[in-house]
Amino acid sequence: MPKARIAVIRGDGIGPEVIEAAENVLSTLDPTLSFVHFEAGYRHMKKTGFQIEDDTIEAIRELDACLKGPTQTAFGTKTQKGVAPTIREKLDLYSNLRPIRARPGVKCLFPQTNLLIVRENTEDLYKGLEYRSGESSFGIRVITRLGSERIARFAFNLAVREGRKKVTAVHKANVLKETCGLFLETCRRVAADFPEIEFEDALVDATAMRLVTKPEDFDIILTTNIFGDILSDEAAGLIGGLGMAPSANIGDENALFEPIHGSAPDIAGKGLANPSATILSSALMLRHLGRATQADRVENALNEVLAEGKVVTPDIGGKAKTSEMAQAIIEKLQLQ
Ligand code: ATP
Repeated sequence: MPKARIAVIRGDGIGPEVIEAAENVLSTLDPTLSFVHFEAGYRHMKKTGFQIEDDTIEAIRELDACLKGPTQTAFGTKTQKGVAPTIREKLDLYSNLRPIRARPGVKCLFPQTNLLIVRENTEDLYKGLEYRSGESSFGIRVITRLGSERIARFAFNLAVREGRKKVTAVHKANVLKETCGLFLETCRRVAADFPEIEFEDALVDATAMRLVTKPEDFDIILTTNIFGDILSDEAAGLIGGLGMAPSANIGDENALFEPIHGSAPDIAGKGLANPSATILSSALMLRHLGRATQADRVENALNEVLAEGKVVTPDIGGKAKTSEMAQAIIEKLQLQ
Protein backbone atom coordinates (compact mmCIF):
# COMPACT_ATOMS: atom_id res chain seq x y z
CA MET A 1 0.00 0.00 0.00
CA PRO A 2 1.46 3.43 -0.91
CA LYS A 3 2.50 5.57 2.04
CA ALA A 4 0.07 8.30 3.07
CA ARG A 5 1.17 11.69 4.37
CA ILE A 6 -1.45 13.38 6.52
CA ALA A 7 -1.57 17.08 7.36
CA VAL A 8 -2.77 17.61 10.94
CA ILE A 9 -4.22 20.78 12.48
CA ARG A 10 -4.83 20.37 16.21
CA GLY A 11 -7.01 23.48 16.49
CA ASP A 12 -8.48 25.20 19.54
CA GLY A 13 -10.36 24.22 22.70
CA ILE A 14 -10.87 20.46 22.76
CA GLY A 15 -9.14 20.16 19.36
CA PRO A 16 -5.69 19.07 20.65
CA GLU A 17 -7.27 16.41 22.90
CA VAL A 18 -9.48 14.79 20.24
CA ILE A 19 -6.76 15.01 17.57
CA GLU A 20 -4.21 13.35 19.86
CA ALA A 21 -6.72 10.53 20.43
CA ALA A 22 -7.28 10.05 16.68
CA GLU A 23 -3.58 10.27 15.85
CA ASN A 24 -2.74 7.61 18.46
CA VAL A 25 -5.40 5.31 17.00
CA LEU A 26 -4.09 5.86 13.46
CA SER A 27 -0.45 5.30 14.47
CA THR A 28 -1.37 2.00 16.13
CA LEU A 29 -3.34 0.95 13.08
CA ASP A 30 -0.60 1.72 10.58
CA PRO A 31 2.86 2.89 11.72
CA THR A 32 3.69 3.84 8.11
CA LEU A 33 1.19 6.73 8.13
CA SER A 34 3.12 9.96 8.53
CA PHE A 35 1.80 13.15 10.08
CA VAL A 36 2.85 16.71 9.30
CA HIS A 37 1.63 19.22 11.90
CA PHE A 38 0.48 22.75 11.15
CA GLU A 39 -0.64 25.49 13.51
CA ALA A 40 -3.90 27.31 12.71
CA GLY A 41 -6.88 28.72 14.53
CA TYR A 42 -7.71 31.28 17.17
CA ARG A 43 -4.75 30.57 19.48
CA HIS A 44 -2.44 30.73 16.47
CA MET A 45 -3.96 34.06 15.44
CA LYS A 46 -3.29 35.53 18.89
CA LYS A 47 0.42 34.71 18.38
CA THR A 48 0.85 35.50 14.68
CA GLY A 49 -2.05 37.69 13.56
CA PHE A 50 -3.28 34.99 11.13
CA GLN A 51 -5.90 32.26 11.55
CA ILE A 52 -4.02 30.33 8.85
CA GLU A 53 -1.20 31.35 6.50
CA ASP A 54 -1.26 30.86 2.72
CA ASP A 55 1.96 28.79 2.99
CA THR A 56 0.17 26.35 5.28
CA ILE A 57 -2.66 25.91 2.79
CA GLU A 58 -0.16 25.35 -0.03
CA ALA A 59 1.66 22.73 2.07
CA ILE A 60 -1.64 20.96 2.83
CA ARG A 61 -2.44 20.97 -0.90
CA GLU A 62 0.67 18.82 -1.53
CA LEU A 63 -0.15 16.20 1.14
CA ASP A 64 -2.56 13.27 0.75
CA ALA A 65 -5.27 14.47 3.15
CA CYS A 66 -5.81 16.75 6.13
CA LEU A 67 -7.15 15.82 9.56
CA LYS A 68 -8.34 18.90 11.42
CA GLY A 69 -9.49 19.56 14.96
CA PRO A 70 -12.13 22.23 15.60
CA THR A 71 -10.95 25.82 15.42
CA GLN A 72 -12.62 28.75 17.10
CA THR A 73 -14.00 31.58 15.00
CA ALA A 74 -14.43 34.93 16.71
CA PHE A 75 -17.67 36.90 16.48
CA GLY A 76 -17.60 40.46 15.11
CA THR A 77 -17.38 42.13 11.74
CA LYS A 78 -13.68 43.01 11.97
CA THR A 79 -12.52 39.43 12.52
CA GLN A 80 -10.86 37.10 10.01
CA LYS A 81 -12.60 34.28 8.19
CA GLY A 82 -12.31 30.95 10.03
CA VAL A 83 -9.80 28.22 9.22
CA ALA A 84 -12.26 25.67 7.79
CA PRO A 85 -14.04 28.12 5.42
CA THR A 86 -10.64 29.43 4.25
CA ILE A 87 -9.28 25.96 3.47
CA ARG A 88 -12.58 24.89 1.86
CA GLU A 89 -12.49 27.94 -0.39
CA LYS A 90 -8.79 27.82 -1.33
CA LEU A 91 -8.73 24.05 -1.98
CA ASP A 92 -12.24 24.11 -3.49
CA LEU A 93 -13.55 21.40 -1.15
CA TYR A 94 -17.09 21.74 -2.40
CA SER A 95 -18.66 18.60 -0.91
CA ASN A 96 -19.35 18.19 2.77
CA LEU A 97 -20.32 14.67 3.74
CA ARG A 98 -21.80 14.13 7.19
CA PRO A 99 -22.74 10.53 8.02
CA ILE A 100 -25.36 10.29 10.79
CA ARG A 101 -25.29 6.78 12.14
CA ALA A 102 -26.49 5.38 15.46
CA ARG A 103 -23.82 3.28 17.18
CA PRO A 104 -24.35 0.28 19.46
CA GLY A 105 -24.53 1.20 23.15
CA VAL A 106 -25.02 4.93 22.58
CA LYS A 107 -28.40 6.07 23.86
CA CYS A 108 -30.34 7.72 21.07
CA LEU A 109 -33.89 8.40 19.94
CA PHE A 110 -33.82 6.10 16.92
CA PRO A 111 -31.28 3.24 17.09
CA GLN A 112 -31.79 2.44 13.37
CA THR A 113 -30.65 5.90 12.19
CA ASN A 114 -28.23 5.62 9.28
CA LEU A 115 -28.33 8.50 6.82
CA LEU A 116 -25.87 10.68 4.94
CA ILE A 117 -26.08 14.46 4.75
CA VAL A 118 -24.43 15.96 1.68
CA ARG A 119 -24.00 19.69 2.13
CA GLU A 120 -22.78 22.15 -0.51
CA ASN A 121 -19.70 23.69 1.02
CA THR A 122 -18.68 26.84 -0.86
CA GLU A 123 -21.77 28.95 -1.62
CA ASP A 124 -24.94 30.26 -0.02
CA LEU A 125 -25.18 32.87 2.75
CA TYR A 126 -21.85 31.58 4.10
CA LYS A 127 -20.00 33.36 1.28
CA GLY A 128 -19.89 36.20 3.80
CA LEU A 129 -21.18 38.85 1.39
CA GLU A 130 -22.78 41.06 4.01
CA TYR A 131 -22.90 44.76 4.60
CA ARG A 132 -24.56 47.31 6.78
CA SER A 133 -26.22 50.48 5.63
CA GLY A 134 -27.48 52.78 8.34
CA GLU A 135 -29.86 50.82 10.54
CA SER A 136 -30.22 47.92 8.07
CA SER A 137 -27.97 45.00 7.24
CA PHE A 138 -27.92 42.88 4.11
CA GLY A 139 -26.58 39.47 3.14
CA ILE A 140 -26.25 38.11 -0.38
CA ARG A 141 -27.11 34.47 -0.99
CA VAL A 142 -25.09 32.93 -3.81
CA ILE A 143 -26.32 29.71 -5.46
CA THR A 144 -24.89 28.84 -8.88
CA ARG A 145 -25.76 26.17 -11.42
CA LEU A 146 -22.16 24.90 -11.35
CA GLY A 147 -22.12 24.68 -7.53
CA SER A 148 -25.50 22.94 -7.43
CA GLU A 149 -24.63 20.58 -10.26
CA ARG A 150 -21.35 19.34 -8.79
CA ILE A 151 -22.80 18.76 -5.29
CA ALA A 152 -25.81 16.95 -6.79
CA ARG A 153 -23.49 14.72 -8.85
CA PHE A 154 -21.42 14.04 -5.72
CA ALA A 155 -24.58 12.92 -3.87
CA PHE A 156 -25.83 10.66 -6.66
CA ASN A 157 -22.40 9.12 -7.29
CA LEU A 158 -22.13 8.50 -3.54
CA ALA A 159 -25.54 6.80 -3.61
CA VAL A 160 -24.34 4.47 -6.37
CA ARG A 161 -21.00 3.76 -4.64
CA GLU A 162 -22.52 3.14 -1.20
CA GLY A 163 -25.55 1.21 -2.42
CA ARG A 164 -27.97 3.87 -1.14
CA LYS A 165 -31.51 3.91 -2.54
CA LYS A 166 -32.81 7.49 -2.31
CA VAL A 167 -31.65 11.11 -2.53
CA THR A 168 -33.82 13.86 -0.99
CA ALA A 169 -33.05 17.41 -2.15
CA VAL A 170 -33.85 19.78 0.73
CA HIS A 171 -34.70 23.41 -0.07
CA LYS A 172 -37.14 26.28 0.48
CA ALA A 173 -37.95 26.94 -3.17
CA ASN A 174 -41.54 28.03 -2.45
CA VAL A 175 -40.15 31.18 -0.75
CA LEU A 176 -36.55 31.51 -2.01
CA LYS A 177 -37.72 31.17 -5.59
CA GLU A 178 -34.49 32.15 -7.35
CA THR A 179 -31.76 30.67 -5.15
CA CYS A 180 -33.47 27.49 -3.95
CA GLY A 181 -35.31 27.39 -7.27
CA LEU A 182 -32.04 27.07 -9.18
CA PHE A 183 -30.72 24.49 -6.70
CA LEU A 184 -33.84 22.32 -7.01
CA GLU A 185 -34.04 22.64 -10.79
CA THR A 186 -30.40 21.50 -11.06
CA CYS A 187 -30.89 18.58 -8.64
CA ARG A 188 -33.87 17.39 -10.71
CA ARG A 189 -31.80 17.54 -13.88
CA VAL A 190 -28.94 15.54 -12.34
CA ALA A 191 -31.42 13.02 -10.87
CA ALA A 192 -32.58 12.21 -14.40
CA ASP A 193 -29.08 10.83 -15.12
CA PHE A 194 -29.46 8.33 -12.24
CA PRO A 195 -32.78 6.53 -12.86
CA GLU A 196 -31.77 3.67 -10.53
CA ILE A 197 -31.73 6.08 -7.53
CA GLU A 198 -35.08 7.30 -6.19
CA PHE A 199 -35.31 11.10 -6.01
CA GLU A 200 -37.60 13.31 -3.96
CA ASP A 201 -37.49 16.89 -2.74
CA ALA A 202 -38.62 18.32 0.59
CA LEU A 203 -38.93 21.71 2.27
CA VAL A 204 -36.28 22.40 4.89
CA ASP A 205 -38.75 23.17 7.69
CA ALA A 206 -40.70 19.96 7.11
CA THR A 207 -37.39 18.08 6.93
CA ALA A 208 -36.33 19.46 10.32
CA MET A 209 -39.46 17.93 11.83
CA ARG A 210 -39.32 14.63 9.92
CA LEU A 211 -35.74 14.16 11.08
CA VAL A 212 -36.89 13.90 14.70
CA THR A 213 -40.07 11.95 14.01
CA LYS A 214 -39.21 9.64 11.09
CA PRO A 215 -35.47 9.72 10.35
CA GLU A 216 -35.86 6.40 8.54
CA ASP A 217 -37.57 8.41 5.74
CA PHE A 218 -34.11 9.61 4.70
CA ASP A 219 -31.21 7.88 3.02
CA ILE A 220 -29.15 10.74 1.52
CA ILE A 221 -30.11 14.37 2.23
CA LEU A 222 -28.70 16.70 -0.44
CA THR A 223 -28.84 20.37 0.50
CA THR A 224 -27.35 23.84 0.42
CA ASN A 225 -24.63 25.12 2.74
CA ILE A 226 -26.61 26.78 5.54
CA PHE A 227 -29.46 24.24 5.64
CA GLY A 228 -26.90 21.43 5.73
CA ASP A 229 -25.06 23.06 8.61
CA ILE A 230 -28.20 23.34 10.73
CA LEU A 231 -29.75 19.99 9.81
CA SER A 232 -26.53 18.11 10.54
CA ASP A 233 -26.26 19.49 14.09
CA GLU A 234 -29.92 18.53 14.57
CA ALA A 235 -29.26 15.07 13.15
CA ALA A 236 -26.22 14.64 15.43
CA GLY A 237 -28.69 15.01 18.31
CA LEU A 238 -30.39 11.85 17.05
CA ILE A 239 -27.30 9.69 17.48
CA GLY A 240 -25.91 10.79 20.84
CA GLY A 241 -24.80 14.37 20.28
CA LEU A 242 -22.05 16.35 18.62
CA GLY A 243 -19.31 14.09 19.97
CA MET A 244 -20.53 11.32 17.66
CA ALA A 245 -20.73 13.08 14.26
CA PRO A 246 -17.80 13.07 11.78
CA SER A 247 -17.43 14.93 8.49
CA ALA A 248 -15.47 14.95 5.24
CA ASN A 249 -14.81 17.99 3.04
CA ILE A 250 -14.00 16.71 -0.42
CA GLY A 251 -12.92 18.43 -3.63
CA ASP A 252 -11.56 17.10 -6.91
CA GLU A 253 -7.91 17.27 -5.74
CA ASN A 254 -7.88 17.55 -1.93
CA ALA A 255 -9.84 16.49 1.12
CA LEU A 256 -10.12 17.53 4.75
CA PHE A 257 -11.67 15.54 7.60
CA GLU A 258 -12.95 17.01 10.87
CA PRO A 259 -15.58 16.45 13.56
CA ILE A 260 -18.69 18.55 13.04
CA HIS A 261 -18.52 19.90 16.59
CA GLY A 262 -16.83 23.15 17.48
CA SER A 263 -13.99 23.84 19.90
CA ALA A 264 -16.29 23.51 22.97
CA PRO A 265 -14.29 25.87 25.23
CA ASP A 266 -16.54 24.97 28.19
CA ILE A 267 -14.98 21.50 28.45
CA ALA A 268 -11.50 22.15 26.96
CA GLY A 269 -8.46 20.81 28.81
CA LYS A 270 -10.54 18.67 31.18
CA GLY A 271 -10.35 15.34 29.36
CA LEU A 272 -14.14 15.40 28.92
CA ALA A 273 -14.25 15.55 25.12
CA ASN A 274 -15.65 12.55 23.28
CA PRO A 275 -13.04 11.59 20.64
CA SER A 276 -15.51 9.48 18.57
CA ALA A 277 -16.38 12.19 16.01
CA THR A 278 -12.70 12.81 15.27
CA ILE A 279 -11.82 9.09 15.19
CA LEU A 280 -14.77 8.49 12.83
CA SER A 281 -13.54 11.42 10.69
CA SER A 282 -10.16 9.69 10.45
CA ALA A 283 -11.98 6.50 9.34
CA LEU A 284 -13.66 8.56 6.59
CA MET A 285 -10.19 9.78 5.64
CA LEU A 286 -8.85 6.22 5.38
CA ARG A 287 -11.81 5.26 3.17
CA HIS A 288 -11.14 8.29 0.95
CA LEU A 289 -7.49 7.19 0.66
CA GLY A 290 -8.61 3.77 -0.60
CA ARG A 291 -7.93 2.07 2.74
CA ALA A 292 -11.41 0.64 3.37
CA THR A 293 -10.15 -2.33 5.39
CA GLN A 294 -8.27 -0.04 7.77
CA ALA A 295 -11.34 2.20 8.05
CA ASP A 296 -13.49 -0.82 8.95
CA ARG A 297 -10.97 -1.85 11.61
CA VAL A 298 -11.12 1.60 13.25
CA GLU A 299 -14.93 1.67 13.18
CA ASN A 300 -15.18 -1.87 14.55
CA ALA A 301 -12.79 -1.10 17.42
CA LEU A 302 -14.77 2.06 18.29
CA ASN A 303 -18.10 0.20 18.01
CA GLU A 304 -16.86 -2.45 20.47
CA VAL A 305 -15.84 0.17 23.04
CA LEU A 306 -19.16 1.99 22.62
CA ALA A 307 -21.19 -1.22 22.85
CA GLU A 308 -19.45 -2.23 26.09
CA GLY A 309 -20.10 1.27 27.46
CA LYS A 310 -17.41 0.88 30.15
CA VAL A 311 -14.69 3.24 28.93
CA VAL A 312 -16.65 6.10 27.34
CA THR A 313 -16.79 9.84 28.00
CA PRO A 314 -19.47 11.57 30.15
CA ASP A 315 -21.47 13.00 27.22
CA ILE A 316 -22.50 9.43 26.31
CA GLY A 317 -23.01 8.22 29.85
CA GLY A 318 -19.52 7.16 30.98
CA LYS A 319 -16.81 8.42 33.30
CA ALA A 320 -13.70 7.94 31.16
CA LYS A 321 -11.32 10.68 30.05
CA THR A 322 -10.70 11.34 26.35
CA SER A 323 -7.29 9.62 26.48
CA GLU A 324 -8.69 6.59 28.36
CA MET A 325 -11.37 6.08 25.73
CA ALA A 326 -8.74 6.35 22.97
CA GLN A 327 -6.59 3.78 24.79
CA ALA A 328 -9.55 1.36 25.04
CA ILE A 329 -10.03 1.68 21.26
CA ILE A 330 -6.32 1.06 20.68
CA GLU A 331 -6.49 -2.10 22.80
CA LYS A 332 -9.43 -3.37 20.72
CA LEU A 333 -7.42 -2.68 17.55
CA GLN A 334 -4.48 -4.65 18.91
CA LEU A 335 -6.76 -7.63 19.64
CA GLN A 336 -8.21 -7.76 16.10
P1 ATP B 1 -19.21 26.09 16.44
O1 ATP B 1 -19.92 27.38 16.29
O2 ATP B 1 -17.72 26.19 16.43
O3 ATP B 1 -19.75 24.98 15.58
P2 ATP B 1 -20.91 25.32 18.59
O4 ATP B 1 -21.50 26.53 19.15
O5 ATP B 1 -21.73 24.44 17.69
O6 ATP B 1 -19.48 25.61 17.92
P3 ATP B 1 -19.59 23.27 19.94
O7 ATP B 1 -18.27 23.75 20.38
O8 ATP B 1 -19.66 22.43 18.73
O9 ATP B 1 -20.51 24.53 19.83
O10 ATP B 1 -20.29 22.46 21.09
C1 ATP B 1 -21.47 22.78 21.77
C2 ATP B 1 -21.46 22.01 23.09
O11 ATP B 1 -21.55 20.61 22.85
C3 ATP B 1 -20.14 22.20 23.80
O12 ATP B 1 -20.17 23.33 24.60
C4 ATP B 1 -19.95 20.91 24.57
O13 ATP B 1 -20.57 21.01 25.83
C5 ATP B 1 -20.65 19.88 23.69
N1 ATP B 1 -19.67 19.16 22.85
C6 ATP B 1 -19.22 19.50 21.62
N2 ATP B 1 -18.32 18.62 21.17
C7 ATP B 1 -18.18 17.69 22.14
C8 ATP B 1 -17.37 16.51 22.29
N3 ATP B 1 -16.51 16.08 21.34
N4 ATP B 1 -17.49 15.81 23.43
C9 ATP B 1 -18.32 16.18 24.40
N5 ATP B 1 -19.11 17.28 24.32
C10 ATP B 1 -19.05 18.03 23.21
